[in-house]
Amino acid sequence: MANQHGQSTHQLAGISSETLQDLLRQWQQPAFRARQILDWRNKGILNPEHMGNLPRDLRRRLGSEIECESLQLIRRQCSADGTRKYVFSLKRPPLQGRQIESVLIPETKRATVCISSQIGCVLDCPFCYTGTQGFEGNLTAAEIIAQILAIKHDLHSDPLPQTLHNEVTHIVYMGMGEPMANEAGVHGSLRLLLDDFRISRRRITLSTSGLVPQIERLGENYPVNLAISLHAADNDLRDRLVPINRKYPLERLRDCLDCYPLGRQRHITLEYVMLAGVNDREEDIRSLLAFVNPARERLNLIQFNPYPGNPFLGSSKEHMNAFAQRLISKGIRATVRRSRGEDIMAACGQLKAETSAVQSAEH
Ligand code: SF4
Repeated sequence: MANQHGQSTHQLAGISSETLQDLLRQWQQPAFRARQILDWRNKGILNPEHMGNLPRDLRRRLGSEIECESLQLIRRQCSADGTRKYVFSLKRPPLQGRQIESVLIPETKRATVCISSQIGCVLDCPFCYTGTQGFEGNLTAAEIIAQILAIKHDLHSDPLPQTLHNEVTHIVYMGMGEPMANEAGVHGSLRLLLDDFRISRRRITLSTSGLVPQIERLGENYPVNLAISLHAADNDLRDRLVPINRKYPLERLRDCLDCYPLGRQRHITLEYVMLAGVNDREEDIRSLLAFVNPARERLNLIQFNPYPGNPFLGSSKEHMNAFAQRLISKGIRATVRRSRGEDIMAACGQLKAETSAVQSAEH
């Protein structure tokens, strides 16, 4: 089956096991073929020609009737600490050729993949590089999952040094875009990650600027870890820094966060990019003390990386540490994010700006 662009409506990266089984039944293939295909898919092997245990006619049919590779890898950059940034281009008309970015952040006992959910962003936060690019489209569930699969495949074909973890263990929706403005793609991808890929919801984090009804629906359907791009804790300032606040002000966000389902020992992360003289003042500490719920929330203070044409400057490291200490002394769990891969996943939409900090050692 094809859409109006003559393209298959099924994308292998995002197909559910039920849909694939139905398709194989129509093709009069034995049921066990679905498991074989999904085993390959889940390892990141999307080219049917590389699925060695399938008969040749099935490989050919898969290749012609399903869109097997939703993304094309355009560029990969590797930092000295193992962090890898990937630029993919979309294959699907009419967004063919549009680029998105994903990041792998390996550590000794875990490896996190930061994925994009949109091309650009529908919102317009004035300090955010992605926001300046405008909005070009939503990714499908398959295109979201395909980022993870491509990175799995890359890890398999070019492993990291043994001191780093070589399996993807955690997923964060913190790349390009506002995930909650693409509910169809994001919910579809979460359903696959939780049900088909069997990834625990404790290992998935979604970062949003605070679209309240969408957060409520996320909590009802897919209560993964939540991160909020807070950046200001009083309405006047947040209206300027995170304009969605004009629609969903802090009072509504507060009520929503208080009701978001949390498992044992879980918490909501509040992201706070520190802008010199803008949100790092004494009065901002007072606003944070009034807003943050220390029993359920942790505050992540993030260094801002200035970029050309943007009027904001980042707070100094010393000031960030002093700011954090003041909050900690008042009972708020505040951390200054250490510099490396985590910087890249600073907040929704920071990806493109932040990844420019990855030392380029292109392969
Ligand atoms: S900070 Fe997030 S919500 Fe705001 S413009 Fe950037 S990507 Fe969009």
